[in-house]
Amino acid sequence: MRDENALEQAKKLVAAAKKISALTGAGISVDSGIPDFRSEGGIWERFDPYEYGTYDSFLNDPSKFWTMGRELAKVMLKAKPNPAHIALAELEQTGKLLGVITQNIDNLHQAAGNTNVVELHGSYLRAHCMECKTDYVGEEVHQRVADGEIPPRCEKCGGVLKSEAVLFGEPMPEGPMARAVDICNDTDLMLVIGTSLSVYPAAFLPQLAKNSGAKVILINLEGANRDDVADVILMGKASDVVPRLFGSSE
Ligand code: NAD
Repeated sequence: MRDENALEQAKKLVAAAKKISALTGAGISVDSGIPDFRSEGGIWERFDPYEYGTYDSFLNDPSKFWTMGRELAKVMLKAKPNPAHIALAELEQTGKLLGVITQNIDNLHQAAGNTNVVELHGSYLRAHCMECKTDYVGEEVHQRVADGEIPPRCEKCGGVLKSEAVLFGEPMPEGPMARAVDICNDTDLMLVIGTSLSVYPAAFLPQLAKNSGAKVILINLEGANRDDVADVILMGKASDVVPRLFGSSE
Protein backbone atom coordinates (compact mmCIF):
# COMPACT_ATOMS: atom_id res chain seq x y z
CA MET A 1 0.00 0.00 0.00
CA ARG A 2 1.11 3.57 -0.55
CA ASP A 3 -1.08 6.09 1.29
CA GLU A 4 -1.22 8.25 4.41
CA ASN A 5 -1.83 5.15 6.54
CA ALA A 6 1.31 3.49 5.25
CA LEU A 7 3.46 4.47 8.25
CA GLU A 8 0.89 3.07 10.69
CA GLN A 9 0.66 -0.14 8.65
CA ALA A 10 4.43 -0.43 8.61
CA LYS A 11 4.66 0.10 12.37
CA LYS A 12 2.14 -2.70 12.92
CA LEU A 13 4.28 -5.03 10.79
CA VAL A 14 7.36 -4.04 12.79
CA ALA A 15 5.57 -4.60 16.10
CA ALA A 16 4.36 -8.05 15.00
CA ALA A 17 7.71 -9.21 13.60
CA LYS A 18 10.11 -11.35 15.60
CA LYS A 19 12.95 -11.68 13.09
CA ILE A 20 13.55 -8.43 11.22
CA SER A 21 16.19 -7.94 8.54
CA ALA A 22 17.31 -4.96 6.48
CA LEU A 23 18.62 -4.66 2.94
CA THR A 24 20.26 -1.28 2.44
CA GLY A 25 21.65 0.62 -0.53
CA ALA A 26 23.36 3.89 -1.30
CA GLY A 27 20.23 5.91 -0.39
CA ILE A 28 20.59 5.23 3.34
CA SER A 29 23.97 6.98 3.31
CA VAL A 30 22.93 10.00 1.22
CA ASP A 31 21.98 11.86 4.41
CA SER A 32 25.49 11.15 5.70
CA GLY A 33 26.87 13.09 2.73
CA ILE A 34 27.74 10.19 0.41
CA PRO A 35 25.92 10.68 -2.90
CA ASP A 36 24.07 7.76 -4.52
CA PHE A 37 24.47 7.17 -8.24
CA ARG A 38 21.44 9.37 -8.93
CA SER A 39 22.32 12.44 -6.85
CA GLU A 40 23.07 15.56 -8.81
CA GLY A 41 26.29 17.49 -8.44
CA GLY A 42 28.20 14.77 -6.62
CA ILE A 43 31.35 12.85 -7.34
CA TRP A 44 29.56 10.55 -9.81
CA GLU A 45 28.99 13.43 -12.21
CA ARG A 46 32.75 13.80 -12.54
CA PHE A 47 33.53 10.09 -12.47
CA ASP A 48 30.99 7.87 -14.21
CA PRO A 49 30.99 4.71 -12.05
CA TYR A 50 30.19 2.61 -15.11
CA GLU A 51 33.43 3.86 -16.67
CA TYR A 52 35.79 4.31 -13.70
CA GLY A 53 34.31 1.57 -11.51
CA THR A 54 34.39 -1.50 -13.75
CA TYR A 55 36.66 -4.48 -13.13
CA ASP A 56 37.87 -4.46 -16.75
CA SER A 57 38.82 -0.81 -16.49
CA PHE A 58 40.71 -1.54 -13.25
CA LEU A 59 42.65 -4.41 -14.84
CA ASN A 60 43.49 -2.29 -17.90
CA ASP A 61 44.49 0.83 -16.01
CA PRO A 62 44.33 0.80 -12.18
CA SER A 63 45.36 4.48 -12.10
CA LYS A 64 41.97 5.39 -13.48
CA PHE A 65 40.12 3.69 -10.62
CA TRP A 66 42.44 5.16 -7.99
CA THR A 67 42.03 8.67 -9.42
CA MET A 68 38.31 8.32 -8.72
CA GLY A 69 39.12 6.52 -5.46
CA ARG A 70 41.07 9.52 -4.19
CA GLU A 71 37.98 11.71 -4.56
CA LEU A 72 35.62 9.07 -3.14
CA ALA A 73 37.82 8.60 -0.07
CA LYS A 74 37.54 12.32 0.73
CA VAL A 75 33.76 11.92 0.95
CA MET A 76 33.53 8.45 2.46
CA LEU A 77 36.17 8.61 5.17
CA LYS A 78 34.64 11.67 6.83
CA ALA A 79 31.00 10.43 6.70
CA LYS A 80 29.21 9.64 9.98
CA PRO A 81 26.16 7.40 10.56
CA ASN A 82 22.83 9.23 10.32
CA PRO A 83 19.59 8.54 12.28
CA ALA A 84 18.64 5.68 9.90
CA HIS A 85 21.89 3.79 10.58
CA ILE A 86 21.52 4.49 14.29
CA ALA A 87 17.90 3.25 14.38
CA LEU A 88 19.04 -0.08 12.87
CA ALA A 89 21.82 -0.35 15.46
CA GLU A 90 19.27 0.29 18.22
CA LEU A 91 17.00 -2.36 16.70
CA GLU A 92 19.85 -4.87 17.02
CA GLN A 93 19.97 -4.08 20.75
CA THR A 94 16.35 -5.28 21.11
CA GLY A 95 17.32 -8.72 19.77
CA LYS A 96 14.80 -8.52 16.91
CA LEU A 97 17.28 -7.83 14.11
CA LEU A 98 18.64 -10.87 12.29
CA GLY A 99 21.13 -8.79 10.37
CA VAL A 100 21.76 -5.93 7.96
CA ILE A 101 22.51 -6.92 4.38
CA THR A 102 24.13 -3.95 2.69
CA GLN A 103 25.21 -3.10 -0.83
CA ASN A 104 27.20 -0.21 0.61
CA ILE A 105 30.94 -0.14 1.03
CA ASP A 106 31.06 2.75 3.49
CA ASN A 107 31.20 0.92 6.87
CA LEU A 108 28.50 3.21 8.32
CA HIS A 109 26.35 0.37 9.72
CA GLN A 110 29.33 -0.90 11.72
CA ALA A 111 30.17 2.67 12.76
CA ALA A 112 26.60 3.01 14.10
CA GLY A 113 27.04 -0.16 16.17
CA ASN A 114 25.55 -3.01 14.12
CA THR A 115 27.58 -6.19 14.55
CA ASN A 116 25.85 -8.51 12.08
CA VAL A 117 26.46 -6.70 8.79
CA VAL A 118 26.64 -8.64 5.54
CA GLU A 119 28.66 -6.64 3.00
CA LEU A 120 27.53 -7.90 -0.40
CA HIS A 121 29.81 -5.54 -2.30
CA GLY A 122 32.83 -5.51 -0.01
CA SER A 123 34.26 -2.53 1.84
CA TYR A 124 36.17 0.59 1.04
CA LEU A 125 38.02 0.17 4.33
CA ARG A 126 39.96 -2.88 3.18
CA ALA A 127 42.41 -3.42 0.34
CA HIS A 128 44.69 -6.20 -0.84
CA CYS A 129 47.55 -6.84 -3.25
CA MET A 130 46.43 -8.24 -6.59
CA GLU A 131 49.60 -10.38 -6.78
CA CYS A 132 50.53 -11.75 -3.34
CA LYS A 133 47.11 -11.09 -1.71
CA THR A 134 48.60 -9.29 1.31
CA ASP A 135 45.84 -7.41 3.16
CA TYR A 136 46.03 -3.67 3.71
CA VAL A 137 44.05 -1.27 5.90
CA GLY A 138 41.93 0.89 3.61
CA GLU A 139 42.59 4.18 5.43
CA GLU A 140 46.36 3.72 5.09
CA VAL A 141 46.07 2.98 1.39
CA HIS A 142 43.75 5.96 0.88
CA GLN A 143 46.28 8.19 2.65
CA ARG A 144 49.03 7.01 0.30
CA VAL A 145 46.73 7.68 -2.67
CA ALA A 146 45.90 11.14 -1.27
CA ASP A 147 49.68 11.75 -1.07
CA GLY A 148 49.94 11.02 -4.81
CA GLU A 149 50.80 7.30 -4.98
CA ILE A 150 48.56 6.28 -7.89
CA PRO A 151 48.16 3.38 -8.21
CA PRO A 152 49.24 2.30 -4.70
CA ARG A 153 51.58 -0.70 -4.73
CA CYS A 154 52.33 -3.60 -2.39
CA GLU A 155 55.23 -2.95 -0.04
CA LYS A 156 56.22 -6.65 -0.28
CA CYS A 157 56.02 -7.51 -3.97
CA GLY A 158 55.23 -4.30 -5.85
CA GLY A 159 51.86 -5.59 -7.09
CA VAL A 160 48.97 -3.19 -7.59
CA LEU A 161 46.65 -2.76 -4.59
CA LYS A 162 42.91 -3.11 -5.06
CA SER A 163 40.23 -1.74 -2.80
CA GLU A 164 37.92 -4.53 -1.60
CA ALA A 165 34.92 -2.66 -2.95
CA VAL A 166 33.40 -4.97 -5.58
CA LEU A 167 33.59 -3.36 -9.00
CA PHE A 168 31.04 -3.68 -11.79
CA GLY A 169 31.72 -6.95 -13.61
CA GLU A 170 33.81 -8.35 -10.74
CA PRO A 171 32.70 -11.65 -9.17
CA MET A 172 31.00 -11.08 -5.83
CA PRO A 173 32.41 -12.74 -2.70
CA GLU A 174 30.44 -15.97 -2.14
CA GLY A 175 30.34 -16.02 1.66
CA PRO A 176 28.31 -12.82 2.12
CA MET A 177 25.76 -13.83 -0.52
CA ALA A 178 25.26 -17.19 1.21
CA ARG A 179 24.75 -15.41 4.56
CA ALA A 180 22.29 -13.01 2.91
CA VAL A 181 20.28 -15.91 1.50
CA ASP A 182 20.14 -17.52 4.97
CA ILE A 183 18.79 -14.27 6.42
CA CYS A 184 16.18 -14.00 3.65
CA ASN A 185 15.00 -17.54 4.36
CA ASP A 186 14.72 -16.90 8.10
CA THR A 187 13.34 -13.36 8.33
CA ASP A 188 9.67 -12.52 8.83
CA LEU A 189 10.03 -8.83 7.92
CA MET A 190 12.53 -7.23 5.57
CA LEU A 191 13.12 -3.47 5.52
CA VAL A 192 14.44 -2.46 2.10
CA ILE A 193 16.04 0.95 2.52
CA GLY A 194 17.50 3.37 -0.03
CA THR A 195 18.14 1.06 -2.93
CA SER A 196 16.90 1.36 -6.50
CA LEU A 197 16.93 -2.48 -6.67
CA SER A 198 18.70 -2.32 -9.99
CA VAL A 199 21.95 -4.15 -9.14
CA TYR A 200 21.62 -7.95 -9.21
CA PRO A 201 21.76 -10.36 -7.46
CA ALA A 202 21.15 -8.03 -4.47
CA ALA A 203 17.94 -6.78 -6.09
CA PHE A 204 16.48 -10.28 -5.97
CA LEU A 205 16.82 -10.65 -2.17
CA PRO A 206 13.49 -8.97 -1.19
CA GLN A 207 11.69 -11.39 -3.51
CA LEU A 208 13.53 -14.28 -1.90
CA ALA A 209 12.42 -13.13 1.55
CA LYS A 210 8.88 -12.71 0.26
CA ASN A 211 8.90 -16.23 -1.22
CA SER A 212 9.85 -17.49 2.25
CA GLY A 213 6.78 -15.82 3.74
CA ALA A 214 8.27 -12.52 4.94
CA LYS A 215 6.57 -9.13 4.72
CA VAL A 216 8.52 -6.41 2.93
CA ILE A 217 8.58 -2.68 3.72
CA LEU A 218 10.24 -0.51 1.10
CA ILE A 219 11.65 2.87 2.18
CA ASN A 220 12.89 5.08 -0.61
CA LEU A 221 12.93 8.67 -1.78
CA GLU A 222 11.18 7.60 -4.96
CA GLY A 223 9.87 4.40 -6.52
CA ALA A 224 12.33 1.54 -6.87
CA ASN A 225 12.44 -0.97 -9.72
CA ARG A 226 10.74 -3.70 -7.71
CA ASP A 227 7.94 -1.83 -5.90
CA ASP A 228 5.71 -4.83 -6.62
CA VAL A 229 7.50 -6.87 -3.96
CA ALA A 230 6.54 -4.46 -1.15
CA ASP A 231 3.64 -4.88 1.28
CA VAL A 232 4.08 -1.25 2.34
CA ILE A 233 5.94 1.56 0.58
CA LEU A 234 7.17 4.55 2.57
CA MET A 235 8.38 7.46 0.49
CA GLY A 236 10.82 9.82 2.12
CA LYS A 237 14.33 10.27 3.43
CA ALA A 238 15.67 7.22 5.22
CA SER A 239 17.03 9.37 8.06
CA ASP A 240 13.51 10.63 8.69
CA VAL A 241 11.40 7.53 8.00
CA VAL A 242 13.44 4.70 9.54
CA PRO A 243 13.57 6.10 13.11
CA ARG A 244 9.80 6.77 12.95
CA LEU A 245 9.17 3.07 12.25
CA PHE A 246 10.35 2.20 15.73
CA GLY A 247 8.91 5.22 17.56
CA SER A 248 5.67 5.22 19.56
CA SER A 249 2.38 5.40 17.60
CA GLU A 250 1.67 8.82 16.11
P1 NAD B 1 21.33 3.55 -6.34
O1 NAD B 1 22.18 4.80 -6.39
O2 NAD B 1 21.05 2.80 -7.58
O3 NAD B 1 19.90 3.92 -5.69
C1 NAD B 1 19.77 4.65 -4.50
C2 NAD B 1 18.29 4.74 -4.16
O4 NAD B 1 18.18 5.46 -2.93
C3 NAD B 1 17.46 5.48 -5.21
O5 NAD B 1 16.28 4.74 -5.46
C4 NAD B 1 17.14 6.83 -4.52
O6 NAD B 1 15.86 7.32 -4.87
C5 NAD B 1 17.16 6.44 -3.06
N1 NAD B 1 17.54 7.54 -2.16
C6 NAD B 1 18.33 8.62 -2.39
N2 NAD B 1 18.43 9.38 -1.30
C7 NAD B 1 17.67 8.79 -0.35
C8 NAD B 1 17.37 9.09 1.01
N3 NAD B 1 17.87 10.18 1.61
N4 NAD B 1 16.56 8.25 1.69
C9 NAD B 1 16.02 7.15 1.08
N5 NAD B 1 16.27 6.80 -0.20
C10 NAD B 1 17.10 7.63 -0.89
O7 NAD B 1 22.02 2.66 -5.21
P2 NAD B 1 21.95 1.09 -4.96
O8 NAD B 1 20.59 0.58 -5.23
O9 NAD B 1 22.56 0.89 -3.63
O10 NAD B 1 22.90 0.45 -6.10
C11 NAD B 1 24.09 1.07 -6.60
C12 NAD B 1 25.42 0.38 -6.24
O11 NAD B 1 26.44 1.38 -5.92
C13 NAD B 1 25.37 -0.44 -5.01
O12 NAD B 1 26.31 -1.46 -5.08
C14 NAD B 1 25.76 0.59 -3.95
O13 NAD B 1 26.12 0.07 -2.75
C15 NAD B 1 26.91 1.31 -4.62
N6 NAD B 1 27.11 2.63 -3.97
C16 NAD B 1 27.45 2.64 -2.65
C17 NAD B 1 27.58 3.83 -1.97
C18 NAD B 1 27.92 3.76 -0.49
O14 NAD B 1 28.61 2.82 -0.06
N7 NAD B 1 27.43 4.70 0.32
C19 NAD B 1 27.37 5.06 -2.63
C20 NAD B 1 27.06 5.01 -4.01
C21 NAD B 1 26.91 3.78 -4.67
